[in-house]
Amino acid sequence: MQSHSIEPYLNCSFECGCGRTHKSLFAHYIFEPGAIGKLPVLLEQLGYTRPYLISDTHTHEIAGKQAEEVLCKAQIRFTSHVLQSPENGDLAADEHALGSIAMANDKEADIIISVGTGTINDLGRYFSYITGRPFMLVATAPSMDGLVSGVAPLIFNNMKITFPAQEPLALICDPEIMAAAPLKMLAAGAADILGKYNCLLDWKLSHIVNGEYYCDKIAGIMRTAVDRTMESTKGLASHDGKAVAVLTEALALSGIAMDFSGNSRPASGAEHHQSHYWEMQFLFDGVPAVLHGTKVGIGTVLMLELYNMLAQMEKPDFAKIREGISSRLPAEEWEKEMHRCYRDGAEGIIALEKKAKKNDPEGLLMRLAAIEENWEKIQTLAKEAPKAAEIYRVLEKMGAAKVPADVGIPREYVYDSIRYGKELRDRYTVLQLMWDIGELDGAAKKLVEKYCDKI
Ligand SMILES: [Zn+2]
Ligand SMILES: [Zn+2]
Repeated sequence: MQSHSIEPYLNCSFECGCGRTHKSLFAHYIFEPGAIGKLPVLLEQLGYTRPYLISDTHTHEIAGKQAEEVLCKAQIRFTSHVLQSPENGDLAADEHALGSIAMANDKEADIIISVGTGTINDLGRYFSYITGRPFMLVATAPSMDGLVSGVAPLIFNNMKITFPAQEPLALICDPEIMAAAPLKMLAAGAADILGKYNCLLDWKLSHIVNGEYYCDKIAGIMRTAVDRTMESTKGLASHDGKAVAVLTEALALSGIAMDFSGNSRPASGAEHHQSHYWEMQFLFDGVPAVLHGTKVGIGTVLMLELYNMLAQMEKPDFAKIREGISSRLPAEEWEKEMHRCYRDGAEGIIALEKKAKKNDPEGLLMRLAAIEENWEKIQTLAKEAPKAAEIYRVLEKMGAAKVPADVGIPREYVYDSIRYGKELRDRYTVLQLMWDIGELDGAAKKLVEKYCDKI
């Protein structure tokens, strides 16, 4: 067994300086040659005798067949269901795929094993949860940060909704399989991790402005994993085993960090909201999906630009900002904009705002007081942000997408995602801060000029 820097955080519980007890039940991280061969021993060790294996045509070829052979050899009874991958694009994690998994279900199975990283992982995790069985993951590519996760983003009625899901008991990765993943997937995984530069800043920002709970220890664990990934991005281009090991570990650590904080704060901020926004537009338009991490990478460049702007900004005239509150977009105009941008999803966004009141003058005035008082602190934080140009170059060197047009995101979607991406969640980020100080629209215009081609 190789030693990994993830080890201290496996199946652990500890009292933290932040005053909370951090806990993660994720216990088995197996990243070693021949890892799939360990399945029978692992199942026996954990007391399971009858797995239900889920894969798709691609992942079945890559690792599913091998898992079946290993189980056959060990004389373990199992059911295997292979979903048909579409000719173009990827299988969608939607009600149809879930229905197929349910119809092939072996109700005697005592554990669900997904073979795959994206869709198959999300579906298996959710199916385990709704059928009350434990879950294991045989990963086939380090392409996104949901390897260890207690939620599953699924598509229902053309809307992406995050459902509760079963966190895996074990993550099984064969380094050879992981390193052989297409560069596009490795780059997407790395971009998803680079996005943490932004989301960790967003988390701290909310702590400063709203007093939201924040833990230095969790942020530190993530920051180390992100820095290590950043150093190893060069190696990814040549499918270097060590670089892939660092990346896979960082992806698993983001799940553990979320267990520790009890929410997705250490792994998701405004850069993810950009990605979600574009993904929704693609769904509405019936355009094939783009890898999650790829979009997060593009969103990270844009959101870091906002921090870079903030770092350079003169202290705003807060009295003037307060005077201008009454001339901000009236609620009915805002609702119209939500219908235009979020289309079939608008009602959900409007309902969220009624609860969260992010745009209400009362909350805004309170936040403005906190921002004014803590302006130096906010600028010091903004100065910690990497330069957007640096992340852009890293993405470029990996051969990853770096601007919206690289994956077909039109200019107007970017303009809207910067101005209204914050409405997707009740989560304070740099987008909401820029809106609070009345700078968001102007910043959106500048970013679109810089990063989007004119049509
Ligand atoms: Zn803590
Ligand atoms: Zn992500």
